[in-house]
Amino acid sequence: MQEQVFIDKAKQYLKGNLHTHTNLSDGKYPVSEVLKIYSENKYDFIGITDHDLFYEGENTSGEMLIIAGQEVTCDYIGDPECKGAYVHFSCFQKKAVPIAPMTYKNAEELQKCIEELKKNYRLVQFNHPLFSSMFAKLSENDVVSLNDYDLLEIYNHKDFRNETGISSAEVLVRCVLNARKKLLLTAGDDFHGPYKKAKNDYFGGGYIMVNAEKNEESILAAIENGDFYSTTGPRIIDYRRIGNRLEITTSPVKNIIFYSNVRRCKNILSDDGEDITFGEYEIRDADYYVWVKIVDTDGKTAWTQPLYL
Ligand SMILES: [Zn+2]
Ligand SMILES: [Zn+2]
Repeated sequence: MQEQVFIDKAKQYLKGNLHTHTNLSDGKYPVSEVLKIYSENKYDFIGITDHDLFYEGENTSGEMLIIAGQEVTCDYIGDPECKGAYVHFSCFQKKAVPIAPMTYKNAEELQKCIEELKKNYRLVQFNHPLFSSMFAKLSENDVVSLNDYDLLEIYNHKDFRNETGISSAEVLVRCVLNARKKLLLTAGDDFHGPYKKAKNDYFGGGYIMVNAEKNEESILAAIENGDFYSTTGPRIIDYRRIGNRLEITTSPVKNIIFYSNVRRCKNILSDDGEDITFGEYEIRDADYYVWVKIVDTDGKTAWTQPLYL
């Protein structure tokens, strides 16, 4: 019987945050301090993504690997009432010279910006799509119309903690998937340092677990291949397809949900108060994608990559 392994219990996964600011732009701490904070919290790598400045420093420091990148601003100039609004993309592995500051008036022009970014970088991530679409007046349909970026932040900790307060971009992601578009989903901190009264919840909010060796090429290749998952806490231990059945093994959670484009999702709940660690799903003829979300007692969540059928 055909077997496809998406998350393999026999493999090691590296923990990383792809979205980090330092005092090279508007972050509070220098790179060295940011590395210390993430090292102490058992991360294997971080993406340094300062605003409109590609990180050119060392890419290793002791145990912590840096994935060099930048967060590119595309300024929205379509409505004078939205002065200062923008869409942000994190970009990794520079292929060409840095591009000039970008602007757009509508989704068609934003699409041109994405195409330009893809000429210049290996990986392009659509950051905090909820925050950007509210702020820069991108409708759901506008977001659905965009193509060619590689990754989308289903979870951005700063957006949840300090901007829209919405805990994930799931609804938006489903609109994109229902339009038969393919996406890879990431979670990140958008670390800038503490919020006004934050003690320690300004980092470690969202991260990815990647099946890779601890070097930049291996990590970028694994991300490109979708060989990772996104989480705010719970772990996906194993996830595979055997014939037409999907099987997932997780850390203890309250809820395992299999989503697809078809109504009647499979929502497995722990009824008796005992946590659950396993779920299975029979792929239906009408499913053209399936993805899985797990939620623990604290409401923390992990998402698989969507499986395209
Ligand atoms: Zn941003
Ligand atoms: Zn950012």
